[in-house]
Amino acid sequence: MNTMTQQDGTKHATDCGRVFNRYDAACPRCQELKAGAAPRQGWQGPYFSEKAHREAMWKRGLDEHFAPNGPHAKGLCGPVCTFGDW
Ligand SMILES: [Zn+2]
Ligand SMILES: [Zn+2]
Repeated sequence: MNTMTQQDGTKHATDCGRVFNRYDAACPRCQELKAGAAPRQGWQGPYFSEKAHREAMWKRGLDEHFAPNGPHAKGLCGPVCTFGDW
């Protein structure tokens, strides 16, 4: 469910021979990186926005659960409320 559009420009050649920071002279993307282009966003950006999203959903779930007319007020969660413990 990724709605973000990839905005990568140049891609590494399919036969890119880059090893760590040793760029492949035959690969256009490597030449870009070597010339100082910003590295593509790694896993951290998506990871943290996903985490923030999940926390927001979790808090919203709590709000809804404990709303005056929510499931908790109606006793739908049972005698011992464990909502939010996950
Ligand atoms: Zn490359
Ligand atoms: Zn409850």
